[in-house]
Amino acid sequence: MLRVGIVGGGQLGRMLIQAGIDFALEVHVLDSSADSPCHGLAHEFVVGSVLEAEAIRRFARGLNLLTLELENVSVEGLEGAREEGIAVFPQPEVVRLCQDKGLQRQYYAERGFAGPRFQLWAPGEPIHLPFPLIQKSRRGGYDGRGVQRVPSPEALWPVPSLLEEEVPIAKEVSVIVARARHGEIKAFPPIEAVFHPTAHLVTHLRLPADIDPQAQKEAQEIAMDLAESLQIVGLLAVEFFYTTAGKWLINESAPRPHNTGHITTRATWTSQFEQHWRALLGLPLGETQVHTPAALLNILGPPGQTGKPSYPTLSQLLAIPGLSIHLYGKKRSTPYRKLGHIIILSEDIPTLQARLNEAQALLHVAVS
Ligand code: ADP
Repeated sequence: MLRVGIVGGGQLGRMLIQAGIDFALEVHVLDSSADSPCHGLAHEFVVGSVLEAEAIRRFARGLNLLTLELENVSVEGLEGAREEGIAVFPQPEVVRLCQDKGLQRQYYAERGFAGPRFQLWAPGEPIHLPFPLIQKSRRGGYDGRGVQRVPSPEALWPVPSLLEEEVPIAKEVSVIVARARHGEIKAFPPIEAVFHPTAHLVTHLRLPADIDPQAQKEAQEIAMDLAESLQIVGLLAVEFFYTTAGKWLINESAPRPHNTGHITTRATWTSQFEQHWRALLGLPLGETQVHTPAALLNILGPPGQTGKPSYPTLSQLLAIPGLSIHLYGKKRSTPYRKLGHIIILSEDIPTLQARLNEAQALLHVAVS
């Protein structure tokens, strides 16, 4: 049995375990919290900090393969595991790049991948972009907030940042690409995040996206070119802006399964999680086309409440034809925390929309 390790034990890890079962993998998980969604599901669950190099190195001993479900981990730890002869994918260099929004943006610009005009900025430096602009803290979040629209210089957070021009966005989509150890590469079709007509809030995801097929193909090509350029092994989730002028701009990318990619567990021939293992194990990649149109609804912790979540309308929801649910097993709900998701399938788009509306109206998380 192949022994594989996942750094991080959240819902992405949980779904990687689910898919890993099909390949008879022995999955080990490292997470700082014994309460994480992978606890109780991994062959071995190790409690330790994913930010500590030594914890990762120790965890990796005896494994055949090491991967991750979040990019905010100790790169030194990944390098250490690789030095000990363990196959580490995605490669530590790619993880380092993806940890810093500024380095990422620079990498894209240097290699001709289109993006918003930008500037790497540190407090006190002059600003060359017009206001309003978008400020993104380069690493992690700043006081839990990583991105803001800034109307004037006084409103800037005093942290090293990536500043970007505000681009006119028509659609936001993600393209998930897999690149295998033997170099084979395949992209999933673009997944569209549908926004509320007035509030800046994603209401649901849809696949296929409501975008001209030729433009969809272009986004897939760009995402595959980027994966090729990085020489990544594993999944690369590329987030795009489709501008009102019909141009693709790369926003950012992540070297792992992506939240939007949950929709592939039901809508495409192969899921992103299965594809990740195929890529890492050096197996042929699976087909990525959509077999049934789908919508995905996140189940989020209700605002203003913290405690144990329960789902009183589960039966009514599951009575909707084509609806499935995945609960992440989180013991605690906090405002807007991702607790699970719902996927609805229907061959007929108006029916899909009607069932989605029904599910949105029924969805209720109780907190006690
Ligand atoms: P996060 O890492 O929090 O997901 P993103 O970089 O994806 O941050 O930005 C969050 C949102 O802010 C995007 O989904 C988009 O709606 C908006 N946004 C980000 N960059 C720009 C930009 N240059 N112009 C306009 N809107 C932007």
